[in-house]
Amino acid sequence: MAHVDRQAWDVVVVGAGGAGLRAAIEAREAGMRTAVICKSLFGKAHTVMAEGGIAASMGNANEHDNWQVHFRDTMRGGKFLNHWRMAELHAREAPDRVWELETWGALFDRTADGRISQRNFGGHEYPRLAHVGDRTGLELIRTLQQKIVALQQEDEGELGAYDARLKVFQECTVTRVLKDGDRVSGAFCYERESGRFFVLEAPAVVLATGGIGKSFKVTSNSWEYTGDGHALALLAGAPLINMEFVQFHPTGMVWPPSVKGILVTESVRGDGGVLRNSDGKRFMFDYIPDVFKEKYAETEEEGDGWYEDPERHRRPPELLPRDEVARAINAEVKAGRGSPHGGVYLDVSTRMPAEVITRRLPSMHHQFKELADVDITAEPMEVGPTCHYVMGGVEVDPDTAAATGVPGLFAAGEVAGGMHGSNRLGGNSLSDLLVFGRRAGLHAAEYAASLDRRPAVDPVQIDAAEAEALRPFSAEDAGQDAGHETGPAENPYTLHQELQQAMNDLVGIIRKESEMFEALKRLAELRVRARRAGVEGHRQYNPGWHLSLDLRNMLLVSECVARAALEREESRGGHTRDDHPAMDRGWRNINLVCEVAHPQGEARTADPALGQIRLSRRETPPIRRDLLELFEKDELAKYLTDEELSR
Ligand code: FAD
Repeated sequence: MAHVDRQAWDVVVVGAGGAGLRAAIEAREAGMRTAVICKSLFGKAHTVMAEGGIAASMGNANEHDNWQVHFRDTMRGGKFLNHWRMAELHAREAPDRVWELETWGALFDRTADGRISQRNFGGHEYPRLAHVGDRTGLELIRTLQQKIVALQQEDEGELGAYDARLKVFQECTVTRVLKDGDRVSGAFCYERESGRFFVLEAPAVVLATGGIGKSFKVTSNSWEYTGDGHALALLAGAPLINMEFVQFHPTGMVWPPSVKGILVTESVRGDGGVLRNSDGKRFMFDYIPDVFKEKYAETEEEGDGWYEDPERHRRPPELLPRDEVARAINAEVKAGRGSPHGGVYLDVSTRMPAEVITRRLPSMHHQFKELADVDITAEPMEVGPTCHYVMGGVEVDPDTAAATGVPGLFAAGEVAGGMHGSNRLGGNSLSDLLVFGRRAGLHAAEYAASLDRRPAVDPVQIDAAEAEALRPFSAEDAGQDAGHETGPAENPYTLHQELQQAMNDLVGIIRKESEMFEALKRLAELRVRARRAGVEGHRQYNPGWHLSLDLRNMLLVSECVARAALEREESRGGHTRDDHPAMDRGWRNINLVCEVAHPQGEARTADPALGQIRLSRRETPPIRRDLLELFEKDELAKYLTDEELSR
């Protein structure tokens, strides 16, 4: 065995976004020696890009808001596929997490009477998003980092070392979760700058690695969202659920091509922006689905009246949940009523004075001016759907965030599944990160403290992880041991582009059976070729090598998405089937569960030409009665199965 540096910690948190930092703070405060490891620079997580705000029913902007209303909105948004207990905990605990952030130094925008201001967002009955202009994620991360520094200063004072109980390993990537029997024993990692391998030994590992967007061509996600945590969980033996549900945010930039997919925050619509087609028509009034008819305005006058007087007007349909708006835009463009660059128009310029636009949406103003030479105070934006968020993820226990079947493994934030059902409401991610990040850190700490014996790290697994990570440097031979023909090394960038194109075209916003069969075929071919993904040069800061390693994860996760999407023969939330366009109540309580057939040894032993994912159906636990009683019977009849209704 080559020498690999090993360090012992109590809890290892993989990811330094909102979920990871909140988990690390909690684990450290529970007395555990905690390591945080992140692929990019500390501070550059996805969370920092969040714009619109954090959803929490503080009732500052409308006193009728409370956790029950937030719970109802979240379940409706997810079309009742959400794990009800997660939705309940989230709605109950989100206000405390926001207030806590304020006590740690977050400076939210204020109402006229000095309370935390809350703004409207799609699917939320009341203005509910605490925000800092359109740079909320930046303030969230800044505050959590400040808290981490404060804890490190405490350790310096008490123990003489800043990183005695809380250390950040930035620009380092985890490629395997290590195990002792069934239990977690640590993580195998490499440092991006030097290419050096190391092992973080720990009885508890919290996955907080964010999303999977980089498997799709048009996406709001940045380079590191390659589904690593999803794949790490799968390979460690933990199942994923709900992977067919991928959120296409309705409003990404469509022009110029170099910035296609970059997000245009929902706050633009929350603050009064409207969508128009090439005929100038506010088309969303034509796309209000039956389940939402009672809650949304039928005329422009009524919708506009809602901004000033929400008690006496219904909300405009531009504020329907994201899946509905994305499908409507898609349909308008398909019908030939799109903008010149294949989107539709989003206009604030005729709705608000320029001074209000630049104050409330400073980043959007800057983004369009710099990237597209469009002044949003004077002209409309061109926007279209972009892959934004994955609802599916690691199956977890709602209260403890423990992953199913692998003691010591926890997951929180975007990498965890269940909370958002088939579609996430805007603003519900930042609150999810804080609520479940805290829970994951707490329970990981409790778990680590409860063990009589630390699990041992298996040197054979370290050797295997090292060999797997080094394979791209000897790619020409890589086919042979898998029983496949050897061929020339494959360029990882070409493979990535082909994967993104396939996922975009065949498993994108609108899906049909024949295309998903085609997608699975292409994924199988790409898996075979990815075995030969090769790079030249050395291990010092070699992005081609890093991408070769990420490909394993993207291919695994993409197969989960395609298989689950093929299996679910209905349309619900972020999963739209052209060949099964209606929501089917019979599917309301079915989760699709993805597992790999050969977890630890999978990468080399399984035949890449065959599917690597085993799919099964699992019934969701019945929704607790008092929570069901928060809804009208008529509404429940639209969602629940016959059996559930008769119960
Ligand atoms: P992230 O913040 O994505 O962090 C993941 C971390 O994991 C990173 O540190 C990364 O480097 C690390 N990592 C990944 N893989 C590895 C690995 N193998 N080894 C080591 N480290 C790894 N949500 C809202 O609620 N409100 C909003 O207003 C909002 N606006 C958004 C705007 C944009 C442009 C985008 C893209 C998203 C927005 N979202 C919003 C969604 C929200 O920001 C994300 O869902 C959320 O930040 C995810 O947080 P996380 O902690 O789960 O992971």
